[in-house]
Amino acid sequence: MAKKAAAGAAKPVNRKKFLLKTRERLEELKNKLLAEFENELRAEREGNKDEGMDAYDLASEERDREISFILSDRERLKIQQIDDALERLSDSSYGECDSCGLEIAEERLEAMLFTRLCHDCQQELEREARTQRRYDDERNVYRKLGSTDSDEDNL
Ligand SMILES: [Zn+2]
Repeated sequence: MAKKAAAGAAKPVNRKKFLLKTRERLEELKNKLLAEFENELRAEREGNKDEGMDAYDLASEERDREISFILSDRERLKIQQIDDALERLSDSSYGECDSCGLEIAEERLEAMLFTRLCHDCQQELEREARTQRRYDDERNVYRKLGSTDSDEDNL
């Protein structure tokens, strides 16, 4: 087990309480997501029992399955984020900025459970990402012209 020499001091009681509460929130969230994930799988399995549908139904069914596949992927990613945060809680690296090493403000962690950056470092990163995205967007315009897919995010 690697121990950081500089961060050896015990965390203040308030921070400990906060981290404990955060762990509970994360575990709750994970259970909820797993239950939703199960429901989705069950619904999909029931849908597969249907037989003898025509080509039109099949096409829309395929599309539905595609959507649910994407949703499950997203859920899986979320569960992975939760596991990752729980792991960081266990080795007490949770709540510390990955970039500058300072403690991330509790209000920020409450709003964004999975954040690994403090406000300042995140701002810096987003500024860089925006610049990068501008270049990407210009390239994507040409690819998107032929597509009628909706880009709406229903979250
Ligand atoms: Zn930072």
